[in-house]
Amino acid sequence: MRVLPFIFLLLAATARAGDVFDMHVHLHDAANSARAFEADAASAKLELAGYAGMWFGGPNQAAQGDPAAIRAANDAQLALAKEHPKMLPVATVHPYDGEAALAEVARVAGLGCKVLKLHPHTQQFDAADPRVLAIAKRAGELGLVVMFDNANILPGDSEKLFNLAVQAPKTKFLFAHIGAMNFRFWNVLPMARTADAFFADNIHFDLSGTITVVADSPLEPEFVWTLRNVGIDRVLLGSDYPQFSLASSVEALDRLDLTEAEKAKIRVGNARRLFGLAP
Ligand SMILES: [Zn+2]
Repeated sequence: MRVLPFIFLLLAATARAGDVFDMHVHLHDAANSARAFEADAASAKLELAGYAGMWFGGPNQAAQGDPAAIRAANDAQLALAKEHPKMLPVATVHPYDGEAALAEVARVAGLGCKVLKLHPHTQQFDAADPRVLAIAKRAGELGLVVMFDNANILPGDSEKLFNLAVQAPKTKFLFAHIGAMNFRFWNVLPMARTADAFFADNIHFDLSGTITVVADSPLEPEFVWTLRNVGIDRVLLGSDYPQFSLASSVEALDRLDLTEAEKAKIRVGNARRLFGLAP
């Protein structure tokens, strides 16, 4: 069989032990944080395929009413990513800034940004507001992946995000923390896929934070079952650095009762495909 050597090579390439993409990195202190994050990964012997870096969250907030400040911070993040080639810069807007927010989405997309993140809890907006849908649709038209916090701090978090994804079928979404301790909700997706012309299968997840809690817990079998139900191809590893280290997140993934091929997809393969990164 001529194809066998090729298959073995492919398996070897996708299963390099240290190769990892972190979907969820907060850089509170810009260049200093990027250097510290990359140094942490190197000292844990992790080979970074890349990481999604955000300037907001923690002490830096993207509040409503000052789109010029958000624009400047997005620009600084895009500039920082030029100094750190492994970084995929993540931009944000405040959906209630209306036209200014829509214009900023188009501007960052034009500058090559691939991810827009919105955070209903810290940015204090309602994910069910029509201005959020307008941003999500515009971002999707421009090819941006729209990332949302999905830690279920706000009531109805997962329900509102699911409805948003249904209303913006052409947009790719990525829900961070996969619902946290409410991850069970997302087992609705296999049912949604069977409904006629309802769900576009446009939802991805990162496992940040949640994975460190559920690994080796009584919930682990149900969590692994959930990952397979939402689709292993839709799941990306994340750390939520500096709250959690990438090393502890990788270690938690290793502890989950998944196959090596599934782990490799979650660790790096799915991010490569979603963001078109070089293998
Ligand atoms: Zn976070």
